[in-house]
Order: sequence, then C-alpha cells, then structure tokens
Amino acid sequence: MHSEFLRPLAAIVGEAHVLTDERDTAGHFTDWRKQYYGRAECVVRPANTGEVAEIVKLCGRENVAIVPQGGNTGLSGGATPVGAQREIVLSLSRMNRIRHVDPLDDSLVAEAGCVLANVQQAAEAAGRYFPVSLAAEGSCQIGGILSTNAGGVNVLRYGNTREQVLGLEVVLPDGSVWDGLRSLRKDNTGYDLKQLFIGAEGTLGVITAAVLKMRARPSASTTAWVALETPAAAVELLGRLRDRVGECVSAFELVSRRCLEAVLAHAHDTQDPFAAVHPWYVLVELEDASTFESLQSRLEASLAECIEQGKARDAAIAASHLQAAALWRIRESIPEAQFANVKHDVSVAVSRVPLLIERAEAALAKAFPGVQSYIFGHVGDGNLHYNVGDRGLQARRSDVNRIVYDVVASLDGSISAEHGLGQLKREEIKRHKQALELELMRTLKRALDPNGLMNPGKVL
Ligand SMILES: Cc1cc2nc3c(=O)[nH]c(=O)nc-3n(C[C@H](O)[C@H](O)[C@H](O)COP(=O)(O)OP(=O)(O)OC[C@H]3O[C@@H](n4cnc5c(N)ncnc54)[C@H](O)[C@@H]3O)c2cc1C
Repeated sequence: MHSEFLRPLAAIVGEAHVLTDERDTAGHFTDWRKQYYGRAECVVRPANTGEVAEIVKLCGRENVAIVPQGGNTGLSGGATPVGAQREIVLSLSRMNRIRHVDPLDDSLVAEAGCVLANVQQAAEAAGRYFPVSLAAEGSCQIGGILSTNAGGVNVLRYGNTREQVLGLEVVLPDGSVWDGLRSLRKDNTGYDLKQLFIGAEGTLGVITAAVLKMRARPSASTTAWVALETPAAAVELLGRLRDRVGECVSAFELVSRRCLEAVLAHAHDTQDPFAAVHPWYVLVELEDASTFESLQSRLEASLAECIEQGKARDAAIAASHLQAAALWRIRESIPEAQFANVKHDVSVAVSRVPLLIERAEAALAKAFPGVQSYIFGHVGDGNLHYNVGDRGLQARRSDVNRIVYDVVASLDGSISAEHGLGQLKREEIKRHKQALELELMRTLKRALDPNGLMNPGKVL
C-alpha cells in the first residue's frame, strides 16, 4: 500500500481488503444499469462494525468521503462515487452473518451485508417468513434495502422494508456506534431514530446490522394471470378481490401488453399465458394460512364472477408451483427486457393510477408522436414503472422526464416511489418537494454529518 491514507486503512481491515486494482474495483465504480461511472481511491471491505467505525474515523481525519455499497443493484446511482472529492467505496459484503434468530420474538438480527435471499432462507429455516421480495433478491443486501426502503412485490400485504424493522445498528459520521438493536414492538420514548437512517441512501451513516421482523409463514399461496381491458379495470379488480378474499392479496402487479412482448422476445423460457392478445394484465397472488385448495377455489370464484360481469377478459390460475413460477418469471424479466428506454418509478394514490396513465400517454403522444411506453409495476401500491421509448429517446430524456413528472405532480404523486433519489433525481426533487421539507432534510444532514462526508452528491 503506497499512500499515507491507504496504509492505515489496510492496518484496519487487512491489505487484502483494500482494493485498488482496476480489475477489482471497476464493478464497484459503476451502477447496475451502467448509467453512472465514478472514481474512488479504493474499495474497502470491513469484516465487522468495529472496523467500519475505525474506517469512518480515519476518513473523518483525512477528510475523505464514504460511499456505502451493498449489492450495488440500486437504480438511482446512490452507490456509485461521484468523484468530486476524495472518496472511498465502503463495501459491506463481508459483513454477512445472521447474528441471531429468535422465533419467540419473531425476529432475527442480520448484518448489513447479508444478501436478501439468505435472510429469507434464515427465516424459513426457523419456520417463519421474511416478506421483502424483489427481482434483485439474490444480490441486494440488507443494508441496501434498508437504505433505499425497498418496496418489491409484497408491499401490498406486508408494507415496505421500513415496516419490517425493529432495531438498527449504525456507525454515525463521527465514527461512534449507535446500538439500537432492540426487538421492541412498542417503544414510545421519543423520536424513532431508526427511521432516520431507513431510506437515507447512506447519507446519514452506515447501517451495520438490523433487527428484522419475521412473519408467520403462509401455508398456502395461489397465483393467477388475468387479462384486462384497461388499467381502470385493474384497480377495480383489486377492490373486488379484497371484498371477496380480504387481506390475503399479497401481490397485484400490472403488466402492459408491450412489456409482455418485450419479455417474450428477450427471455426465451417464457410464454404468453393466453392464446389471444390482450392490452393489459395483472399478476395476482393470494397468501394465507389455509390450504391451497381453499385459496384457489376462492380466487377461481372471484375471477369467474369478474369475467362473467365483463370486468376481466380472461384468467389463468397456476395449477402448481412450477406454473406459478413461470408467471412470476414473466413479471421478473421485465426490467431486463427493456433496458434502454427512459425510466420512471412513480406513485400516485391507487385510485389515480388510470388517470396517471391516461394523462401521461396523452402528453407523451403529443410531444413525441408514435412513442411507445412500457408500463408495469405494483399497481396495488399505486406504484408504476413508467418506461418510455427506446435508446433513440435517451437524448431527449429530460424532456420525457419533465412530461411524466409534471403529470405525477398534478396528481399529488411521488417521483420516486421505491428506488430513492441517489444521483438520478437529486436535482429534480427540488421541483417537487416543499421548500420547508427540503430545509428540514438539510437541517438533519448538517446535524448528523456536518462535514458532508457521508455519500456526498446523493439525495440532497
Ligand atoms: C432487477 C432489479 C429489480 C429491482 N426491483 C426492485 C423492486 O421491486 N423494488 C425496489 O424497491 N427496488 C428494486 N430494485 C432496486 C434495488 O434492488 C434496491 O434499491 C435495493 O434495495 C438495493 O440494495 P443493494 O444492496 O443493491 O444497495 P446498493 O445499490 O449497494 O445501495 C443502494 C443505496 O443504499 C446505500 N447503502 C447500501 N448499503 C448501505 C449501508 N449498509 N448503510 C448505509 N447505506 C447503504 C448506498 O450508498 C446507496 O445509496 C431492483 C433492482 C434490480 C437490479
């Protein structure tokens, strides 16, 4: 190790865990979509909380900024260094221990670098269930999903990642360690500090571990692919299903025909669930503690009634886990099947989803005649991934963004439903948040990180 900075860093984590060779660092200096490229002095890979604290203190003394990085699957450039000042990437990947599983408390303690799928498996091994689920679950990490407050496909029933957290351990920007690893379900002793760090995208501290809630494992689930005429029919179907089957609707995912076609062209192990062509689809999943047969017959009866009344065009209910997995494969292949277009992750109140699509489609068609949209997402949460055009439209990206975001704003929505702000929406958010909200955020940032060394150039 050559520099005066890298040598003490290596003394903390061991030389093997300070990466400077371009072959080792390149993947850490760009994002999953290869939209952002940055530079940093090195990638540091601590093994425990004490090492993270020592690194943060050293960086404070040397005035070097820290970019926390988990699985690097984030979609807003939050984990990519900006390069405007001296920076390191702090990879949490080696901190991947499940420290404790407690079925009586229905909780487990996972370190920040645990891959989400491994946490799901740890809960399952204890006869329980960890409900956060998204297509990147084989790579994204607990620290990352907490720092972005990830959503995913089960928000409808279980809430965002924020709702799955009982306690946190955080290394603060001055290097002190906040041990908030408590499993309390009730604790009204002042401000709920953990909420500050959840969704903060690494700008207020480094999350090193979390106490996560486990849930009762649903004993049965059933999945259907339903063809619909319009997005309004999807919203109506959700209401009807809830009337008929209650709270057990765990996923309700909208897919446009164009998205399905992109998947069929891209993922060769997928096939159209129907022989006929339909304009819209939803993937529905129900989960509860009854039996597969009971759940399936309730879903069948509800969907049959909707088809009879002309509220749905057709429905295919998976007869086996294999068939359900094939339907999920379609949904989960969508992000990879349309890589090059202009993307938006927006939300409005559920009832306004049809209006959002109608207004945005009209405005886009006016500005870009013939443009095609790829619309899919968690319609049960009012969250759409609204992707527009092809590679050719990238040069007009900010015009496209402006049209979509203005429609979202006109409907009191959010320009980032689940992917955070990162670098991507750091400027745009200034048009959408109230001045008072932005000032409150800056006040918090200044109080916790007065030297601005935690993930600079992100969020604010
Ligand atoms: C195919 C695909 C599908 C996806 N689907 C969804 C989806 O359905 N819903 C959804 O919400 N997201 C989705 N995402 C986005 C992404 O997976 C999530 O944002 C995820 O939470 C990021 O986790 P990560 O470990 O990869 O974090 P990273 O990308 O490494 O980091 C994300 C942010 O968190 C910060 N960070 C990471 N670890 C820490 C830590 N320990 N302490 C402090 N800050 C930290 C980083 O600095 C950065 O700002 C998807 C991504 C892909 C590639």
